[in-house]
Amino acid sequence: MKLTDIKGIGEKTEKLLNKLEIFEAEDLLNYYPRDYEFFSEPKTIANVKVGNVESIKVIITSKPSLFKKNRISITSVTVSDGFSRIKATWFNIPYINKYLEVGRVVILRGKIINNKTGLTINQPKIYEENNYINIQNSLSPIYPLTKGLSNELVRKAVKEVLSLNKDTKNEYLDKNLREKRQLAEINYSLEKIHFPLNYNELLVARRRLVYDEFFMFNLGIKLYKTNDKIDGIVGLKNKDKNIILKVIKNLDYKLTNGQKKAIKDILSDFNNCKLMNRLLQGDVGSGKTIVAILSMIYVAYNNFQSVLMAPTEVLARQHYENIKKIINKNQLDIEVSLLTGSLKKSERNNILKSIKNGDTDIIIGTHAVFSDDIEYNNLAYIVTDEQHRFGVNQRKALEDKSKLVNKLVMSATPIPRTLAMLLYADLDISLIKEKPENRLPIKNAVIPETDREKAYKKIKSEIELGHQAYIICASIEENDENGNFYNLQNVNDYAKSIRKYFPSSVVIEVLHGKMKNNQKELIMERFKNAEIDILVSTTVVEVGVDCPNATVIMVEDAGRFGLASLHQLRGRVGRGSSQSYAIFVDTTMTENSKKRLDVLKNSNDGFYIAEEDLKLRGPGDIFGVKQSGSLGFKLADLYTDADILKEVAEDVDNLIKNDPDLSKSSNILLKTKIDNYIKKGYTI
Ligand code: ADP
Ligand code: MG
Repeated sequence: MKLTDIKGIGEKTEKLLNKLEIFEAEDLLNYYPRDYEFFSEPKTIANVKVGNVESIKVIITSKPSLFKKNRISITSVTVSDGFSRIKATWFNIPYINKYLEVGRVVILRGKIINNKTGLTINQPKIYEENNYINIQNSLSPIYPLTKGLSNELVRKAVKEVLSLNKDTKNEYLDKNLREKRQLAEINYSLEKIHFPLNYNELLVARRRLVYDEFFMFNLGIKLYKTNDKIDGIVGLKNKDKNIILKVIKNLDYKLTNGQKKAIKDILSDFNNCKLMNRLLQGDVGSGKTIVAILSMIYVAYNNFQSVLMAPTEVLARQHYENIKKIINKNQLDIEVSLLTGSLKKSERNNILKSIKNGDTDIIIGTHAVFSDDIEYNNLAYIVTDEQHRFGVNQRKALEDKSKLVNKLVMSATPIPRTLAMLLYADLDISLIKEKPENRLPIKNAVIPETDREKAYKKIKSEIELGHQAYIICASIEENDENGNFYNLQNVNDYAKSIRKYFPSSVVIEVLHGKMKNNQKELIMERFKNAEIDILVSTTVVEVGVDCPNATVIMVEDAGRFGLASLHQLRGRVGRGSSQSYAIFVDTTMTENSKKRLDVLKNSNDGFYIAEEDLKLRGPGDIFGVKQSGSLGFKLADLYTDADILKEVAEDVDNLIKNDPDLSKSSNILLKTKIDNYIKKGYTI
């Protein structure tokens, strides 16, 4: 069913939904809420917590005041519960006036903040008391949104698709299997993950859908992992390795054992004439890039083409420059091209020509490397950096073009080996355990908001030593459940606010996801050239950016992030031989956030952090920040759901033993389902 067949969805909304990778009506069913709103009994003002979304029962005590600031219209009134008062404020809905008569009793529901003018309930929804009672104690889905899309619209659309979905026979899992593993029926689960009447229903639905996510992923790999049966590329077998040894000798550092072993693994795949399907795992900063580069040089010297695909243009350019440097230094006869979305047409055409006729040996770029108009001459090797960060369509293009080539996927997500083996089935894994020798462990600090100035002093003194700093703060893309973007402290405001702590010679710039690609490139380029001292950025720098001269990273409001993300962010520093520092600002100072941040403070080891995080959260904590969210699962969390993963691995093995190509009539639906899943390129 088309999206536009749903009531209330026109072409404009369709485009917005496409941005969220929702292309068909059915995709909405798997567009799971990121959280649920619990409509608790209204509280008194004395009992609300700053930072929480709360419901209060109040009487309006003042006439609404309306004024404009920076083109935003702001309406506010004072309300009272008989004991205390609070301000209620609405942005950009001037017509709300109509509902704000003095003396009216209402339930307001919104986020409580404490700003200059005192306690405020922000952008609250207004309910008549009677209406509120109807929804009291229920759970309502909160969806991840994009600007222009409201939660209500998504909620209604999901509801409609669910109602159409009901009668059809959708269940694709065997009944016995479902009974054995206590898995709820699929239609029930889809309905309840969106609209649970209580917490228990939600858990039951979630269990089934987590099982499915693992199941499809695992089955996809096991069914379609044809590489074992197909011969590798003969032209890469038993060739001269001297070129690699020569480049290694000329590096200005010594490879770690893990790096050497990874290169050996890759060469042995080539030599055994086995089509490679390998995962290269290594913590941030462990030096995965050089492994990729060396193996691509080997391939180029044997007259085959390689592709290195990165999730962002910034990263692609970084890889390109790295490899160019090595090629020039060693005077290698290798042509490298950088293929990104922002090339001029004529430049692009020239590159495409040289790829087609085989003049270019190594092609580096974003997913643009698999656009339809690109024809390779003799592609033999694809390296993907952080594959799970690519969108569905991008992965699909990759899957289509990469059937018979060697594949190396690089990942910095720390997964314990036992789990990785279950998840990736018999995919080969190379692991870089140790960090390069020249590194000093990063020094960490967790500080309260009141110590910000101390942090700025530290940054200042590092800048005086010629070093650079990152400050990470809230993304301007983040939104609340209404799709509002207004009250976030964003990078621009933040950069202005810290100006006064630094001498005017200190260059402060901002970087965020809403900037144009070429603007982003320019900023990163300048940061790398040390023309910028402080980069105030959203998490766009999280992905692999390498600037060894940066020695401090300060993360604002660190509690917003999962430990894994924080660890990745921290990996932006400590990349050279100088002492580096990570400062996490804890704005909540709750017991829980303190415990979590202490894990980071006490260790720089991604695997250890992942395990500790798991212990801290416990299996019941399913809506905490997801540790393994970056793996691309929507619901499943590798750590908290490890037990389910074990069941899945066993069940998929059994299934394939009994029906290797899923041709039995009982597996027809499942076969369609998994074919579709593979077509979308979800598997590795
Ligand atoms: P990641 O594994 O996070 O992708 P990179 O490949 O970007 O890490 O490497 C991080 C930094 O470490 C780069 O500046 C790289 O040149 C450097 N590096 C890589 N290997 C070594 C090594 N064995 N010794 C010292 N520095 C290294
Ligand atoms: Mg990297």
